[in-house]
Amino acid sequence: MALLELSTVSVHYGRIQALSDVSLTVEQGEIVTLIGANGAGKTTTMRAISGIRPLSGGTITFDGEDISTLRADLRVVRGISQSPEGRGVFPGMTVMENLDMGAYSRKDRKNLAEDLDRVFTLFPRLAERKNQAGGTMSGGEQQMLAIGRALMARPRLLLLDEPSMGLAPQFIQQIFRIITEINEQGTTVLLVEQNAQQALSRAHRAYVLETGSISRTGTGQELLNDASIKEAYLGVA
Ligand code: ATP
Repeated sequence: MALLELSTVSVHYGRIQALSDVSLTVEQGEIVTLIGANGAGKTTTMRAISGIRPLSGGTITFDGEDISTLRADLRVVRGISQSPEGRGVFPGMTVMENLDMGAYSRKDRKNLAEDLDRVFTLFPRLAERKNQAGGTMSGGEQQMLAIGRALMARPRLLLLDEPSMGLAPQFIQQIFRIITEINEQGTTVLLVEQNAQQALSRAHRAYVLETGSISRTGTGQELLNDASIKEAYLGVA
């Protein structure tokens, strides 16, 4: 059984249909990436999974449970945690307070120190800047903080929306390395990316979204080597 399954999911914004009949699965332990052009519906797919946008059709199952109409905060409790596009750290709160917020929904708080250690080991910069206001961190640092905060919920499924967006090249490499490391430590990852080259090379499997529908799927390697994918998404003619 897949950890996450979307079955013919549709989402509308008013009369605009952003997703039509999207079906995909994420197996326990995988990194799955969703690539697609601007406006293809990647962020909307993440919002549907985290419960921020209601479905207009279809179902979402997580660990065997139909969560299609479950409240967003209860999905966090079930183990789905999102690091949103545009980072969304709390600007007036310190790094430490932001990380604490990530853990608020946890019933078991006994391993918090261990999880904080894990986040600080993955992102030493956050440990150095514990008391700095989130809003004064650099773009790359805020991205690390947003991922760190999502990890504090001890997610079973981590949703990452454009983690490399706006980052300098050296940070991009680092973020992708860290995503692989998080996955190797046992967290299943669904990754939305414009940086298709990096995302496909890190992913076990991938889906291509085109104007609200899944047009292709395969292993990361299959799609990386595919001529039409290269032309459309990897900037190689
Ligand atoms: P990008 O890579 O540019 O962020 P995306 O693949 O994440 O794009 P979405 O943000 O999911 O795309 O948008 C999918 C479609 O839904 C687009 O046509 C977009 O204009 C529309 N859309 C998104 N949010 C809203 C909204 N709040 N109201 C109306 N339409 C919206």
